[in-house]
Amino acid sequence: MMQESSVALAMDWGGTWCRIAVVSRDGRMLWQSRVRNAAGAEKEQLLEGAQDLIQQARDWCGSGRPIFGLGVAAAGPVESDTGTLREPPNLPALDGVSLKSDWESRLGFPVRVGNDANLAALGEFAYGAGLEARQFRAESNSLVYITVSTGIGGGVIDRGKLLLGGRGLAGEVGHMVIDMRSEAPVCQCGNRGCLEALASGTAIAKVAREKSAEPGEKDGILGELEPGLITAERVLDAAGEGDSLAWSILEDVIDSLSVGMTNLLHLYNPDVVVMGGGVTFGLVRMGLLPSIYGQMQQRAMTDGHRNIQLIPSRLGDAPGMLGAASLVWNGG
Ligand SMILES: [Zn+2]
Repeated sequence: MMQESSVALAMDWGGTWCRIAVVSRDGRMLWQSRVRNAAGAEKEQLLEGAQDLIQQARDWCGSGRPIFGLGVAAAGPVESDTGTLREPPNLPALDGVSLKSDWESRLGFPVRVGNDANLAALGEFAYGAGLEARQFRAESNSLVYITVSTGIGGGVIDRGKLLLGGRGLAGEVGHMVIDMRSEAPVCQCGNRGCLEALASGTAIAKVAREKSAEPGEKDGILGELEPGLITAERVLDAAGEGDSLAWSILEDVIDSLSVGMTNLLHLYNPDVVVMGGGVTFGLVRMGLLPSIYGQMQQRAMTDGHRNIQLIPSRLGDAPGMLGAASLVWNGG
């Protein structure tokens, strides 16, 4: 029975932190806590840290707030039916662990597990940019989320439902190849020319380090920095200060994102495209989202693909956690 006072527990298990929140049905985070993953920890130690957090949350809820379920947003591929992690690159010790079967019987309430970027899409749809979009157009029920930070990830909501694919691995928007030249930059996944290899924070910093070392660039803001000190954030700042090299790098990033995101319009025909992640927030501060929107408008093949809202993430650093809560309340 769901009572008015029922709450969901939502966990976001990333490569560095395991966070937990108590979330109300309308998406408010009532309480939260977190623990750092012990460096080099084995599976049991990591699980104990997470279980300890769950216990803290249960203690906080006490008897006054019945727990309706636990949703977990995990960094890495997740088999959605069994809630099993498969080769998570940032949580390798958890490979093959089924949090659903491990925890459900022990906790006595349902446990749902999903990939963090997929669940971020669900969180934005239920409580963030999707909610905002529905105030303009009530039937906005399809959404693509793309997060541009260290890497590029994303998720797709199709008519209110998370698009999972055959094994729950759909929505890898960062690994669509948009540069197939043999000299295209190598991606972390092993391919060349992925969107992530062209427009992620890692890619921006790498290109800036290479180009700033060229002879003609020594007088610029980036050229005067030690290459090791150049980060994507520094490149965004330098562009804001008018550095021409930083600007040319950002122009390429904007072109790559625009091409990649136009592909997403053609593939998924969303009503709403939501952009999150640290690089996005840098672009927003510089007023550059309209450039991406403009290119998408030019490249889209029909008005039916073109007619979208492009909205920055509205859920700060918690879209995955709120998506995990939505999974508990509404299903996927
Ligand atoms: Zn890739």
